[in-house]
Amino acid sequence: MSRRIKLIAGNWKMNGSRAVGAAFIDRLGALRPAAGPMRRMLICPPATLISSMSDGLKALGVMIGGQDCHVQASGAFTGDISGPMLRDFGCDYVIVGHSERRAVHGETDQLVQAKALAALEIGLIPIICVGETLAEREAGQAESIVRAQIAQSVPDRIAPANLVVAYEPIWAIGTGRAATLDDIAAMHHTIRDALTVKSGDAEGGLVLYGGSVKPGNAAEILALDIVDGALIGGASLAAEDFAAIANTVSANA
Ligand code: PEP
Repeated sequence: MSRRIKLIAGNWKMNGSRAVGAAFIDRLGALRPAAGPMRRMLICPPATLISSMSDGLKALGVMIGGQDCHVQASGAFTGDISGPMLRDFGCDYVIVGHSERRAVHGETDQLVQAKALAALEIGLIPIICVGETLAEREAGQAESIVRAQIAQSVPDRIAPANLVVAYEPIWAIGTGRAATLDDIAAMHHTIRDALTVKSGDAEGGLVLYGGSVKPGNAAEILALDIVDGALIGGASLAAEDFAAIANTVSANA
């Protein structure tokens, strides 16, 4: 299998101000992680910062994305943001189905799939998040839970270039306790198999790992051939950490 592009994506969640965004861009500009065709970098800040960060990030070769989008393009949906609005501000990606939205906002697999389809329709690449709880893992259900999430959250027959899934075991998010390399590799093989069943040809799609990725563990996680990148929460808020994680991956073939 030839090496796929690796995607290093930051999810800022509900963190950051204009000053924090500007300081991040200044610092990342000083660090300048090398650009190259085999590695993509992406920051998904809160919606309030997309406008002020978009140009600065792009000037550094870093793409920008949203953290969620509504299924409709516009309308009476107080507090929501649509795919066309994200496109209007230069977003190329949007995270859908993050476990925090599934848990806090009651998002179902069916809604996540509808959001992914709405994103694709407007030209955004959805990063579709899946992952099991600790109780599900301890009960030996991790694989079946994730297979079911793939079956129901991922639209049928997405073109491989638009297919990005993030495996984020819920017990590893924000806990400082990343999954083991063996567990990551095993689940990524399961996901790739489930995607091939779902999408026909999933070879070009990307499967990211997320959950307590930091500069100290990124190199070994991202060195796994089956891992096509990382979705990074806490560590992506510091330009030094984001750049250090990105620099564990060669930007060139
Ligand atoms: C996330 O929120 O997607 C995430 C992986 O968070 P953290 O890196 O902080 O565990």
